[in-house]
Formats: sequence, C-alpha cells, structure tokens
Amino acid sequence: MKSLSGYSDASLCKKLAGYIKRLAKDLGRPVSFMEVCGTHTMAIFRFGLRQMLPSEVHLISGPGCPVCVTPPSYIDLAIEISKIDGVIIATFGDMVRVPGTHSSLEKEKARGADVRVVYSPLGALEIARKNPEKRVVFLAVGFETTAPTVAAGVLRARQEGLKNFHILSGHRLIPPAIRALLAAGSNVDGFLLPGHVSVIIGSGPYEFIPKEFGVPAVVTGFEPVDILLALRMLLSQMSEDRQEVEIEYNRAARPEGNEKALEMLYKVFEADEGQWRGLGRIPESALSLKHDFRFLAAEGVFDIALGPSREPSGCRCGEVLRGVLEPEECGLFGTSCTPQHAIGPCMVSSEGTCAAHYKYERSPAPLERA
Ligand code: SF4
Repeated sequence: MKSLSGYSDASLCKKLAGYIKRLAKDLGRPVSFMEVCGTHTMAIFRFGLRQMLPSEVHLISGPGCPVCVTPPSYIDLAIEISKIDGVIIATFGDMVRVPGTHSSLEKEKARGADVRVVYSPLGALEIARKNPEKRVVFLAVGFETTAPTVAAGVLRARQEGLKNFHILSGHRLIPPAIRALLAAGSNVDGFLLPGHVSVIIGSGPYEFIPKEFGVPAVVTGFEPVDILLALRMLLSQMSEDRQEVEIEYNRAARPEGNEKALEMLYKVFEADEGQWRGLGRIPESALSLKHDFRFLAAEGVFDIALGPSREPSGCRCGEVLRGVLEPEECGLFGTSCTPQHAIGPCMVSSEGTCAAHYKYERSPAPLERA
C-alpha cells in the first residue's frame, strides 16, 4: 500500500491492525465478519486488508453487489424487451455482460438490438427526449444509493410528459437481505454495513440486527482506515459484550439518513417482495413503482411471456453471495471463468466478489500480515 495521507495512511492502518490483533487474541476465539457491500469487498482486496488481519479474524463477502444479486429472470426479461422493434435499452455498463438463461444484452447488441450504456437515469431520459419515436427502457438496478436518483428521473419524465420513457425496476433493499441471511442461520459474528446505502437510509433500519439477532454492526466508509477502524469497533463490542449499530462513517452517514432523498424515493417507489440471486424471494426487499407511476413500468408496456430462467451452468454465485463459498472453491474460477470470459455476474461486475479475488489475490499483498 502506498503511504497516503488521511484515510489511507499506511502507518495508521498498521496501528489499527495491531489493535485488532490484540482484541482478537483477548477474545480467544475465531470470528467471522461480513462486509455486506461490494465496494467494501473491492477495497479490502485492493488494499490487501485481509492479509493485515490476524488469522482469528475472518472476512466474508456478502450480497451487496447490485448487478450480482439481480436474478436471471430480470436479465431474461430485459433481453426479450431488447428484441422488440423500436426499443432502446439504456443500462449501466456492467449489466450488458451479465449472462441470462440463453443470451446477454451484449450478444443481443451484436445481433442488432439497440443497447446503450448510460451513467445515470438522466442519460436515459436524454435518449428518450432525442428519440420520441422509440421506447426507451432504463434498467433501474441498484440499492438504496441509486434509487433516489432513479426516482428523480421518474418525476422528471412525468413532469416533462415523456411518454416513451420506461423503467424496469430491479432495485433491491439491503436490510431485508441481511435479515434473510440471519434468519437462515448465518454464523456471522458482526456486520460491516455499507456506508453509501447508510447515507440514504441512516442506521435505524439496521437496529433489528443487534436487537433481534444479538449481532453487532458498524456503518463503515470505504477507505482502508475506515474498514480497519470498523473491525476494531466490532471486536470492541464483542469484548465488552455489547451489541449495537455504531457509525464509523460519521463524516457522511447520520442515524436519521437523508430525509429528502428518502422522501423522493418513497414518493415514487414502494417496498415489494423481490427475487434475489442466491437468496430467493425476500419480503419487502424490492422497489416497485407506486400506482401513480406504474404507467412507466416496462413490465406493463410489453406483453412478454418468459420461459423458465436458470443460472449459468456450473456457476456458484448464489453461494458466493450468501458468504458460504469462496470464489476459489468454484470449479470454474480462473479457468473457464475469468473477467475476460465471465460466466457469472460475480465475475462480470466491478463490485463482484469473484472479480475481486481474481484481480487482487494474484497480486502481492501491499502490507504484511499484522
Ligand atoms: S467463478 Fe465464475 S462461475 Fe464461479 S461462482 Fe464466480 S462468477 Fe460464477
């Protein structure tokens, strides 16, 4: 790791790793902490943080990569819509390469489908304005972090009277996924909670984690110091027999969240049951358009009968997303499945656990084990 100032400072990281080592030793048993968010996973691998931890502290990657948890049925529906004459699919880049049951948007684009990469819903709106004779379908995928921006786009479309802008909502919510993992009997000793999501929702929606399951949790930023500090906070809670939701990322996240963003989000969307890759159907874990905005829902505009959807053959992303399998335990990892020829979404996505392992586990560790 380069010696950077502030939240990436190498000597501070080493100091924190020393505290973690002492706390773990005093605890006297191995612990497993889950980093829920794909951005945390990438940071942990990029900065070699696993190598800095004592062997008693085990990190598990969770289901916080939006592209990865999007189920094959959603991809299949997007692919079928892309085949309809006069349709433009507008999507974030990672989604294009995610395999569906029989094809991918990338393959359909090569066959002539109009699939365009955008960086925000506003990019999709612009395409709709410039192509009034076409129907533009925006693939709205992401967690609570991106949903308010999509809600703003939906409000703008209605305000402008855009009749050719639609969204296919694949939004998912983080707290219900954590509840599902815990209810299924997860043996996680503590959670590193996603900083960006928590800036929007605050810490309140996670209170069930300590209260109902007796597990500590810390809202965490994305720099090395943030992550190590949060690990130390988790270990401190354990050694003091406390179970709380604490905020390490207090330069951005507040207990109450961002009330304006939440107001916009829930003006447009409502919580609904949602299918997750690897986790199945989870109540109140998805966002659907509310009644007043349902005319913009792509599912209602195109009458498509989908056949059964299935995972890519041999891909074990579901288990990776539940934290019960390390990517290297998948028989395809690094052989038939690489970032250049990805078989599953966990290798496609820039936040995917398989991609993180492939990219960084092969490089020398930036810092030695503490
Ligand atoms: S290595 Fe590839 S095939 Fe295996 S679980 Fe990861 S994405 Fe799926």
